[in-house]
Amino acid sequence: MTIRTRFAPSPTGYLHVGGARTALFSWLYARKHGGRFILRIEDTDLERSTAESVDAILQGMTWLGLEYDEGPFFQTHRFPRYQEVIQQMLKEGKAYHCYCTKERLESLRAEQMARKEKPRYDGKCRHGVANPPKDIPPVVRFKNPQEGAVTVEDLIRGRVAFQNAELDDLIIARSDGTPTYNFTVVVDDMDMKVSHVIRGDDHLNNTPRQMNMLKALDVTPPVYAHVPMILGADGARLSKRHGAVSVMQYRDDGYLPEALLNYLVRLGWSHGDQEVFTLDEMVKLFDVTQVHSSAAAFNPEKLLWLNQHYIKSSDPAHVAHHLSYHLGKMGVDPSTGPDLIEVVKAQRERAKTLVEMAQNSVFFYREPEGYDPKDAAAHLKHEAEKPLGELRARLAALPLWLPEPIHATVNGVAEAHGLKLGKVAQPLRVAVAGRGVSPPIDATLTLLGREKTLNRLDRALDYLKKPGHSA
Ligand code: GLU
Repeated sequence: MTIRTRFAPSPTGYLHVGGARTALFSWLYARKHGGRFILRIEDTDLERSTAESVDAILQGMTWLGLEYDEGPFFQTHRFPRYQEVIQQMLKEGKAYHCYCTKERLESLRAEQMARKEKPRYDGKCRHGVANPPKDIPPVVRFKNPQEGAVTVEDLIRGRVAFQNAELDDLIIARSDGTPTYNFTVVVDDMDMKVSHVIRGDDHLNNTPRQMNMLKALDVTPPVYAHVPMILGADGARLSKRHGAVSVMQYRDDGYLPEALLNYLVRLGWSHGDQEVFTLDEMVKLFDVTQVHSSAAAFNPEKLLWLNQHYIKSSDPAHVAHHLSYHLGKMGVDPSTGPDLIEVVKAQRERAKTLVEMAQNSVFFYREPEGYDPKDAAAHLKHEAEKPLGELRARLAALPLWLPEPIHATVNGVAEAHGLKLGKVAQPLRVAVAGRGVSPPIDATLTLLGREKTLNRLDRALDYLKKPGHSA
């Protein structure tokens, strides 16, 4: 059997981390078993679905690298097919027209509630309507079996049984002919030959209905795995008030996609005490049957730790690719300065996020607008004027602009003035970077280049000459 999984988001918002985790689990399952991963956009709720959300979901999937083998399929493009199946089910007596008015259904509901019964359709039209009213456009209901039970052998939840007596006859087409949500899922899972449905456990209650419809269509239902939801640290369902929940927000906050994927795979699943998983390892080791059935809590600190790990250990060219996005957002064109890969190598030990790395690296490409006031007060003092002036002259005369001679020059100037290295390196750093933090000074100057270094030293010397800089 070919394994076929699908991710079926409703485009009513951005791709959130819960959806991304479900998508990842489905993707991993397909990859592990040499199967196919399908993307299906469940956009039949015309009022809530938007083109922007579709774009956001596609963008999120691309950024995460969860490439799909088939799709994206859009349910709104499949209405004729749904119609066809509805007609077939009507013809075969597996579904029926229901003419019950809204008023009747409301009073039925009120009576059931008054009797403390679960509100459900009573099947009035199930056995045919003698004189169908011409002025009432009917809905179509599925003839749910009335006896027996539906058993879901869920890969995560284990066996879950539902009594058919608890399920009423679901509307599969509204009076305007449009199909309803549970029905479109059934037709799609059937047509797309989905073998494994991995989805959020908020859909577990839909599963017996969907299985009954699939059986009525003579299709063996797929295997289901219902993934528990994600909670915030306070135990409430993860939501915006816990911080970022949108995948693309994590991109904008400076996370690498592999850090988020690694974080998500570990959310409710473990393999010994291993924390770091390459994508290949995930494919090899992830086992959906071992996902915990209880909800998992989101831990932003751990995600940050993983991000730092991937920033430090990933191929610098890969990090540079993602860093350039952040620099671009800051209005910096990375082609106007040092090779971004070299910047990543110099910066990767000191940044937890790419936003931080970008902020720390802007000065390589754009002259700082001013000096950090505290750092300037500490280091750009009158006493720095002479050493900086001499440094400028010696650096200008260096035959080779390389780390070693640069280092020797800074050292030499410090010695000549009887100063500790920091007394020269820190003013120099503030002069070129605008603040007292940067990679080692020789690496900083090498990357910045001679011209920019000298210009910025000139500017710092002017600044020092201005009145108001006491010794
Ligand atoms: N469209 C549903 C959702 O976004 C998923 C349905 C399914 O996976 O069966 O929650």
